[in-house]
Amino acid sequence: MRQPVLIAILSCVIFSNLFSQVFENDDLKISVLEDLIWVIETTDNTAMYLVEGSDKALLIDTGTKCDSLDKIMRQITSKPVDVVITHGHRDHSGNIKYFDTIYMHPADTIFIDSSYKGVIKFVSEGDFFDLGNKVTEVYHMPGHTPGSIVLTDKHSKCCFTGDAFGSGLVWLQMRPYAYMQTYINSCSKMETLMDSGIEKIYCGHYPYLKKALYKDYIMNMKKLANAIYDDTAQGAKPYSIKVSISCDNPMEVWYNDVGIIYNPDHIKSK
Ligand SMILES: [Zn+2]
Repeated sequence: MRQPVLIAILSCVIFSNLFSQVFENDDLKISVLEDLIWVIETTDNTAMYLVEGSDKALLIDTGTKCDSLDKIMRQITSKPVDVVITHGHRDHSGNIKYFDTIYMHPADTIFIDSSYKGVIKFVSEGDFFDLGNKVTEVYHMPGHTPGSIVLTDKHSKCCFTGDAFGSGLVWLQMRPYAYMQTYINSCSKMETLMDSGIEKIYCGHYPYLKKALYKDYIMNMKKLANAIYDDTAQGAKPYSIKVSISCDNPMEVWYNDVGIIYNPDHIKSK
């Protein structure tokens, strides 16, 4: 066999293994995303991620309608599973009931269902999960919610951002509203993180994108957020989708395929 043909076949085999689907039911499907990292995509377009080390695994977010999520994790890993949520919104914390303990930032407990009977342990900037031969670090990135966090896996040069920077479009129009400067600061922190070896962003609604995002995404977000702050953003218009905790008059604006929904009455602190 000629060598280029062999290389082409081998790369096809490697590629298909890397992104191969390993589990599916009516609620979700699980695929290999990176070496020892899986993406769990729900049929209503939320995403969870499972990162496995040599000692234990970390489930990042708990999705929406995922019956027996704890048992489903046993299809993927036999190691103990810690559970952390990127923020408190229901589409990311919907199945915490299946786990005795969850980790989250304290500023987002306002969103957690009061019927949760388990233990909530708090994480904040600088905390980490030692999974054995890999460490997942916590970075506080408020804006979308006050307690949004990003988790890194420097071993794979990737991070998991939940909704902190959206999935193409970030929602900043929801109570409790963040000032734009708070979000700009988070974009700057993310920029620094990506200058220190993190290359890929896996967002909280992966099914909409089916791909990682890169530093240019954050740079465009930061540019757009600064333009909103300076009142120089072009093309802002009313945003039609209202959720129960959004402001009365949300606006949307776009720049280079990134969008921000925001509360026009809550941009700068008085
Ligand atoms: Zn959210």
